[in-house]
Amino acid sequence: NVSAAAAVIPDEIRNWLSGPRPMLIDGKWVKSVSGKTFDVFDPATGEKIASVAEGDAADVDLAVAAARRAFESGPWSRMTPSERGRIIHRIGDLILDHADELAAIESLDNGKPKAVAKAADVTLSADMFHYMSGWATKLEGKHIPISALTAPGMEFVSMTRLEPIGVVGQIIPWNFPLLMAAWKLAPALTTGCAVVLKIAEETPLSALRLGELLIEAGVPDGVVNIVPGFGETAGAALAGHPGVDKVAFTGSTEVGRLIVQAASRDLKKVSLELGGKSPNIVLGDADPEMAIAGATAAIFFNHGQCCNAGSRLFVQRNLFDKVVEGIAAQAEKIKLGHGLNAETEMGPLVSRVQYDRVTGLLASGRQEGARAVCGGEGLGGAGYFVPPTVLVDTNPGMRVVREEIFGPVLVATPFDEPDDALIAEANNTIYGLAAGVWSGNTGRAHQIANRLRAGTVWINCYHVFDAALPFGGYKQSGWGREMGQAVLSNYLEAKAITTRIG
Ligand code: NAD
Repeated sequence: NVSAAAAVIPDEIRNWLSGPRPMLIDGKWVKSVSGKTFDVFDPATGEKIASVAEGDAADVDLAVAAARRAFESGPWSRMTPSERGRIIHRIGDLILDHADELAAIESLDNGKPKAVAKAADVTLSADMFHYMSGWATKLEGKHIPISALTAPGMEFVSMTRLEPIGVVGQIIPWNFPLLMAAWKLAPALTTGCAVVLKIAEETPLSALRLGELLIEAGVPDGVVNIVPGFGETAGAALAGHPGVDKVAFTGSTEVGRLIVQAASRDLKKVSLELGGKSPNIVLGDADPEMAIAGATAAIFFNHGQCCNAGSRLFVQRNLFDKVVEGIAAQAEKIKLGHGLNAETEMGPLVSRVQYDRVTGLLASGRQEGARAVCGGEGLGGAGYFVPPTVLVDTNPGMRVVREEIFGPVLVATPFDEPDDALIAEANNTIYGLAAGVWSGNTGRAHQIANRLRAGTVWINCYHVFDAALPFGGYKQSGWGREMGQAVLSNYLEAKAITTRIG
């Protein structure tokens, strides 16, 4: 079900991409120190669409120095919380003003349908800045009564003060390039930190455009520096940089381990949002139509390139055939094509590397005896298209069941009763990011939700994200939380101040 229609790139974006895109350091758009650039490709055609300044350790040095200056002596550290909040709110407004353009850039660069980029990525990015702007004036410490047992007879007043952690290095992936930038930048700005953001080499464009909007919103020079470049060079230099106080990373669990190693040299603070292999459980009393639509979206949204994708489906045996056939029927109707074509519902995977990874895992599934009810193989050709795939006849030892595929591939397994064995199998993964439960009995669904080792559980819904809700992983899915009030602690230090008053 693939549309062959060629995409029309809007003129304003074609013009913006006509020369090499520079990086943002100290409020200026500059070339890399080495003068090198790297090419960016349209994943639907494999054609080059842009070239971008390639940052490495030398550029990271300049960016960290600029962030340090901005943090220590720039207007940022002297700004009132309400001034800071107003700038952050304006960033959200500017994202909405440029929603159509940002969605088109995201679609061209990442491959996702433009309508999806506009409704999800752009809308949620703006909301993240709007939501976080309100916290700038609410970072309250406490007055704490103390007993001071070692100083009998004396009186004290003790308080805590929340202070920004300092210069933050942030590293983000390619699956939601704008939204991941928003999730990272908004809380760091709210808490008064200065940032060096290393964006993904596959998809640097929307975050570079966001950088222009940050300046327009009034973010002072050096407060946000944006360095495009590769992981082993720019990313590794940032994660291990002695001038960085804290590293916040989103990406694979393997690279998360490297980040922790690099940051451990000077014991930098680290937060991590990593991979997942999330269970999605349909009980026998669930509304089958709701569960079919929900499980389809849970795995196929964003072409399965979601850390929280509902990639392991467990269905109670009375509904198993109906639900699996229903998902396969919906999957076969999904229209694949270029993200900029209005009728496209699913675009290509992001890159050749990702295409080879996903199709390699599909081949391993076939060899190990899994059966594809729909899809099952990459489409070949110039773009990186993999059709939505549902695999059955799997067993818990197969690679397709154990490993994060990060593509449109669902493994479906029947179960007899929602008992301890089911919970154990759902939790039988190194990951713990998200889970879903579908049931007509919400009490029972809640009992199951309580026993799932995951940072987010959706009941009779999936992929419901909100800037106010914390998101993050148990086990090897990460450290700390993004969004909500919870994310603020990633970027704050608490200082206790005690004054003798008598
Ligand atoms: P990746 O880990 O390869 O890359 C992520 C980022 O890290 C990129 O910017 C990359 O350049 C950089 N990087 C790579 N090697 C590095 C190194 N040695 N040092 C420092 N930085 C380095 O992941 P990916 O393939 O780009 O993204 C997909 C993965 O991200 C999936 O596993 C997915 O589950 C995970 N992810 C998690 C979340 C979440 O919120 N938990 C969100 C999105 C993606």
